[in-house]
Amino acid sequence: MTGGPAGDEGPGGDGARGGSSLFAGLVGQPRAADRLRAAAASPVHAYLLVGPPGTGKRSAARSFAAALLCPEGGCGRCGECRRALAGVHPDVVVRERTGASITVGDAREIGRLGSLSPVEGRRKVLVLIDFHLVEEAAPALLKAVEEPPATTVYVILAEHVPAELVTIASRCAVIEFSPVPTELLAAVLEAEGMEPAVAAAVAEASGGQPDRARLLAGDAGFVARRAAWRDLPDSLDGTGASAVVAAESLLAGLETVVEPLRARQAAELAELVERARLYGGRAGERKELEARHKREERRARTDELRFGLATLAGAYRDGLATARDPGPALAAIAAVTTANEDLARNPNVALLLQNLLVRLGRIGRADPARR
Ligand SMILES: [Zn+2]
Repeated sequence: MTGGPAGDEGPGGDGARGGSSLFAGLVGQPRAADRLRAAAASPVHAYLLVGPPGTGKRSAARSFAAALLCPEGGCGRCGECRRALAGVHPDVVVRERTGASITVGDAREIGRLGSLSPVEGRRKVLVLIDFHLVEEAAPALLKAVEEPPATTVYVILAEHVPAELVTIASRCAVIEFSPVPTELLAAVLEAEGMEPAVAAAVAEASGGQPDRARLLAGDAGFVARRAAWRDLPDSLDGTGASAVVAAESLLAGLETVVEPLRARQAAELAELVERARLYGGRAGERKELEARHKREERRARTDELRFGLATLAGAYRDGLATARDPGPALAAIAAVTTANEDLARNPNVALLLQNLLVRLGRIGRADPARR
């Protein structure tokens, strides 16, 4: 890790070209920020921003769009920058799926929009979100991306590059986003006024996703939930009854993690309604936002559950150090790991958790001192 959170953006040495302030909020992606800043000066026709969810691709794309439209390459203050950042610039088009994947119809519409001249600015920027799900729409999108007018810039966001996206990726400048190191994230949260111990715990629980860290930072129940997972081994006796009670309480905790998210989403929806009132909305925009909000909720629950399981495994791992017989703790860790893997298959979460807790109760703890 080089430098602190402030150091990532450099001392502002490229301030003359502009753009430094635009990317100042992009945590832990110094290489991506540098490349986007540089690209704004003489852009190619398509960019692919690739990286795990929650690593800042979306806000980076918005800043990049502003930099592309700004006469100074991204001052962050002029009308072009401000409108692009606020989501009201007519030459920044954001497209987001409403269904499980991108449709051929979506891709054709994107091609049509991309072929149009800018409404008022010198460029038109199309920001396409979640295009790792391009699936059968890939050929139509490829056609659009291959021959845009010189004034159009595509900014495509994807969590990874599946086979269907490979050819499109080869036509793009690829900019990678990676999970943010925990220490760096903790330092950022501390600099924002969070107590060091909580900042460290939140950063750790975020799995390197600044978006999730921010969510947890506004979540009053975080510390208690973490304690509940850590103390769980003590409350399990191997009976179905105790497992059901414990699982219900943990699942109730998953609902509280969604509350700060809902507050943020409500604000976002209100913004959209206000924007539509002032500038006239686009058909389908609200549906796209609501679909995204549902996905965010689902992801927040899954992330929290994964964090809970990791915390639980950690509790057993801690017991290993003092255990005379490491067998039970190792078996417990293996059971938790399996449950975590099973999560990917979209199981009935309550059942998965109950089964796991019964098993853990029967395995028992490795640490005799705690019994
Ligand atoms: Zn500007």
